[in-house]
Order: sequence, then structure tokens, then C-alpha cells
Amino acid sequence: MFKRVLVANRGEIALRVIRACKELGIETVAIYSEADRGAAYLRLADEAYCIGPARAADSYLRIDRVISAAEIGNVQAIHPGYGFLSENPQFADVCRSCNIEFIGPSHEAMALVGDKNAARKLAKQIGVPTVPGSDDVIQSEAHALNLARQIGFPVLIKAAAGGGGRGMRVAVNELALRSGLQQAQAEAEAAFGSPDVYLEKYIEHPRHVEVQVLADLHGNVVHLWERDCTLQRRHQKLVEESPAPNLDPATRQDLCQAAVKLVKAANYTNAGTVEFVLDRQGHFYFIEVNARIQVEHPVTEMVTGIDLIKAQIRVAAGEPLPFRQEDISQRGVAIECRINAEDPEKNFRPTPGEITQLFTPGGFGVRFDSHIHQGYVVSPYYDSLIGKLIVHQPTRSEAIACMQRALAELRIEGIKTTVPLHQKILSHSAFAEGRVDTTFIERTWPS
Ligand code: ADP
Ligand code: ADP
Ligand code: MG
Repeated sequence: MFKRVLVANRGEIALRVIRACKELGIETVAIYSEADRGAAYLRLADEAYCIGPARAADSYLRIDRVISAAEIGNVQAIHPGYGFLSENPQFADVCRSCNIEFIGPSHEAMALVGDKNAARKLAKQIGVPTVPGSDDVIQSEAHALNLARQIGFPVLIKAAAGGGGRGMRVAVNELALRSGLQQAQAEAEAAFGSPDVYLEKYIEHPRHVEVQVLADLHGNVVHLWERDCTLQRRHQKLVEESPAPNLDPATRQDLCQAAVKLVKAANYTNAGTVEFVLDRQGHFYFIEVNARIQVEHPVTEMVTGIDLIKAQIRVAAGEPLPFRQEDISQRGVAIECRINAEDPEKNFRPTPGEITQLFTPGGFGVRFDSHIHQGYVVSPYYDSLIGKLIVHQPTRSEAIACMQRALAELRIEGIKTTVPLHQKILSHSAFAEGRVDTTFIERTWPS
């Protein structure tokens, strides 16, 4: 097992990784930008190094600086968290050439699935259903128009290197496709460094269901069942749960099998997520693989009882998975609400600033994964996620009641957050009945 691990991230996920390392008896080295200097969670690490100015491009995204901190800190491995360098195959490769274990998949597997179009192609080849669309990146306007005529409007233009809900554009007709295509290519180039885009049929009113997988370095692959992440705004998740409500058992099995098949075909190792959309008829279609730990991993941890961060570290250290597929079951229901520093009434505008008062909820079945505290200043430089409120209860109705109670206890003063919106969602009958789709939030509360 590793003696020392560098945590190449910030905020709640950095704290989450530090906690897992402590329980495994591993020392931690944290890194921080000038904007995060003095953050309370850094004190829980054994060492912490400043790696540059506030802008992520000058600090958390700088491979040279992260590697320097790892060398100075004398670590054997790096946990990348999510976002930042977590899905950067070049970073994984540099780690390997520096003899530092990257806690994640190999850079080859990451490069394969990180190209969303290549992952889609692989899924198709092995018989995993994909959304109808292009076989390759779009070569020309005529190519796009031809395809759209075949699959039918509306279509979605997607960046092959996209992520985080960005780099996607709906085109409802030929005119929109013509004008959208060039813009999408230019945006993809600017945001992700590659102009490649592909087309998918836009599935109307879908659900988002994804499967957590774990694969070790000895050929063992298991799934940890599914998460429902249908409640989104701007293609970004806000509420997640496991198991997925109203999912028929045969579809659940098929989804999980498809995920395992894809992971095996990609030679993928460590933790990963295979994402699908489900149409109104209950057909599922692969959309992408996330080659990292995900924000919403705690709901899976609660229902399966498996600590995914510890599993990632053990797998990277070469240990075989300590369980077989038949040992992994879903017990009870877990729900997570993402607490963001955003104003839901002002189109989710970020609300950086000082948290003047903070009361956090507790009690049976309640987990609050967060790095914030009274006096913490939410920085305008990074993602607006400031905490994750997770509940675990025997049944879904109890989980909803528990979340409502916990949300009512949670008080964050000084800045606007997504808490009031979560209260509305959790008390809505459509949510209680599991009758929501990815457009539910934007349709129900247009702001
Ligand atoms: P999850 O599927 O884990 O919920 P999200 O899509 O919410 O993941 O992304 C998690 C974090 O990673 C967010 O901070 C998001 O902005 C960031 N992220 C994911 N993919 C990319 C990408 N390709 N480029 C930039 N940021 C990304
Ligand atoms: P990202 O890499 O940004 O996470 P995804 O491909 O996972 O992008 O898509 C993000 C979200 O966009 C999905 O969760 C879903 O809500 C929506 N989406 C993606 N593809 C489609 C599609 N073909 N039809 C309808 N909605 C889609
Ligand atoms: Mg996604």
C-alpha cells in the first residue's frame, strides 16, 4: 500500500480523499492555489504546498506544478478527484513516467473513453445501444445535414472532448444546424482544445441513469448498480439517487451488463461511470464514460456499503477487488442534493462570498460532505459546488422525508444557495412519484 498520496484537487473532494487516506493509514500531501490559502481542510493533510495563483489554469491545471509538489512531497501516488486534471490522459502519462501511480485508469483507456465519439463507436461495435447519430466526427455541413435528415430533428451537436454539461447544442431544424455547427466547432476548440463535434438524436424528455463500475488490475470487473441523475439544470446534475425509481428490473440488469461489457472492451481499470439516457419507452442509450470518481459517488456508497475512494486507492496499489459481483447489493435508498453557491432565481448565477453563519444537519441516515465552515469565503474562481447533502433510509419515502428534514436544518447564511430549490423539488409530487425528466427543473421553475 502507498505510504503517501498527493491530492490533486480542492474543496469537498480533496477533503473526501484526505479522509479516506487517513482511514487507510496513508499520509496526505495537499496542494492549494493562492485563493485557497488557509482553507480549513488543508490542515487535515500532513503537508500542503501552494502551486500558484487563483486561476485554475495557473495552479490546479498546471501539470508541471502538481508534479513538482508530488516530487517535493515524496508521494507514491496522486488522486486527481474530479474535474481539473482528472480526465487528462497526458497527466496520467506524466505521472507514470515519473514513477508516480495515477489513481485512475491507464492513460490509454482514459484517452479512448475520453473521446466521446470514440467511446460511442466502441459501444456500437460491441452491441451496446447508442443514441442514433453520426458514426464519426462531422466532416462538413453537408455531412451534418444528411445525417440530421436521416435521424430526424431535433438533433444535438456534441463536442467530442466535452464535459461538465458544456459543449452541447440542440438544433431543431436545418437552419439551426447550419448556424449551430460552426459555432459549436469554434466553442469546442476554445473550451476543450479540439473542434471535433458529432451528432446525436436529441431524445425528448429522457431520464439520465448511470452505472458505477470498478475494475482491478487483475481482470476483475464489477458494477455497483445504478444512479438516477435525471434532475439537472443546463445538463448539469442537481439531485441524484440510488436505486433509480421506477426502473424495471430487466432494464436495470441490462444497463449494468452493458456497462460491464463496455468497461471490459475498453480495458478500463479503477472506478468509472457509464452514462445512459432512457427514453419514454424505457429504451436506454449509451452517452459517455466518465473516467474518474464522480460527484455523486456517495449515493452508491450508502446503498452498497462500499467506500469508493478507498477502493480506488486499493486498486491503484495493485490489490484485487475484495468482493465478487454477487456480493454487491443495493440496500435501502440514498438521495444526494448538490448544495451550490448559486442563485436559482437568477438563472443559477454563481454567488461567491462569505458564509456568515452555518448550521449543518445530522442525525440518523444523514451525511454532509463539505469543506465549508462559518467564515469560509466561497471563491469566484472555481466550481460553485460547496457541499453535498446525502441521506440513506430503508425506503424512498423515508429518504425523501429525511432529506426534507435535513434541508430544513441546513442553514447557510451570507450567500444564496440551491437549498430553497431543493426544498421545492423534494416536496413536489412529480419527484415523489418518480415522474421527472431532465427538463423538469427548467420547465417547472423557469427563472
Ligand atoms: P459528475 O458526472 O461527476 O456529476 P459533472 O459533470 O458535474 O460530473 O462534473 C464534475 C466536475 O468536473 C465539475 O466541476 C465539472 O465542471 C468538471 N468537468 C467535467 N468534465 C469536464 C471537462 N471536460 N472540462 C472541464 N471541466 C469538466
Ligand atoms: P457531459 O460530458 O457534459 O456530461 P453528456 O453526454 O453526459 O455530457 O450529457 C450531459 C447531459 O445532457 C445528459 O445527462 C442528458 O441530460 C443530456 N443529454 C446528453 N445526450 C443527450 C441526448 N442524445 N438526448 C437528450 N439529452 C441528452
Ligand atoms: Mg455526462
